[in-house]
Amino acid sequence: MLILMKQDAHEEEIAAVVAAVEAMGYQARSIPGGQRTAVGVVGNDRRVDSTKIEGLSGVLEVVHVSAPYKLVSREWKAEDTVIQLSNGTKIGGPNVCIMGGPCAVEDRDQILTSAEHVRAAGATVLRGGTFKPRSSPYAFQGLGLEGLKLLREAGDRFGLAIVTEALDVDSAERIAEHADIIQIGARNMANYPLLRHLGKMKKPILLKRGMSATIKELLLAAEYILSEGNEAVMLCERGIRSFDDSTRNVFDIAALAVMKSLSHLPTVADPSHGTGRRDKVIPMARAAVAAGADGLIVEMHPNPNKALSDGAQSLDPEQFRVLVQDVARVAHAIDRGIERR
Ligand code: PEP
Ligand code: MN
Repeated sequence: MLILMKQDAHEEEIAAVVAAVEAMGYQARSIPGGQRTAVGVVGNDRRVDSTKIEGLSGVLEVVHVSAPYKLVSREWKAEDTVIQLSNGTKIGGPNVCIMGGPCAVEDRDQILTSAEHVRAAGATVLRGGTFKPRSSPYAFQGLGLEGLKLLREAGDRFGLAIVTEALDVDSAERIAEHADIIQIGARNMANYPLLRHLGKMKKPILLKRGMSATIKELLLAAEYILSEGNEAVMLCERGIRSFDDSTRNVFDIAALAVMKSLSHLPTVADPSHGTGRRDKVIPMARAAVAAGADGLIVEMHPNPNKALSDGAQSLDPEQFRVLVQDVARVAHAIDRGIERR
């Protein structure tokens, strides 16, 4: 339930509403807005009797939020959430943020070269897996902490923010010390104890959609993080499992538009895992931006044929440059720009 206060409501009236909600046994959160303050009710799993609240002085309207998620919903917060990173990059504002880099950090030279190309192309965030969730236990598992430090070095050298994936609470804590964004992969979207832990951290989270997760399940996963106090969450579409094997996953572009209308959180598209095929990444990146994505996360490797993971879907540096250029034109066509350094 959301209680909209009148524009001229006083502090005391807001406090009285908060007290009335608490007296009913729920938590109240005051949400100051541009026009008016709203008071959100959390902790209820059923419809709350609003008659006691409606009559209180200063109350304009009581809105029953029907969706099972609340804090992530547009009903709860109408304005877009904008996340700002340490290098000044914003995600969720008027401009589209581009993140690029290899699937995994492999060695110092590889990540420094990658960072140089990401920067030269005009992107602002460097990606690189360091703790890798591989389908096979025998495949390259990432460089761990050493890779994380190399990623930070490369990011710092070229003025890029960095994003890398956490597999568990332990790696999340290590990553938080060095990175700007903690990525939670498709395989961990429903790891609820991990999500709760991330909610207590003060780092932006890039939350990827599970391979078989509905949009509602993704929003509920984000709700776990917000419910613990961390509101800096990006919702990432990375393709879902389906019957068609023409592409690695089915890249759900409609999900980007749906998430944007249901939630105030920034949306990010991953056309690399979404398609699994290098030649399909640029067209799908263009389409994702046309559909309203606030950010892109794209795999790029200095030498894709030698990549230790996901080479088939990794762009080479020249293709990445073309991607940024193309996407900038699409963004311009819908009155947006590209975040640049
Ligand atoms: C990745 O970004 O390299 C990755 C493993 O992604 P996902 O969790 O979407 O499979
Ligand atoms: Mn990958």
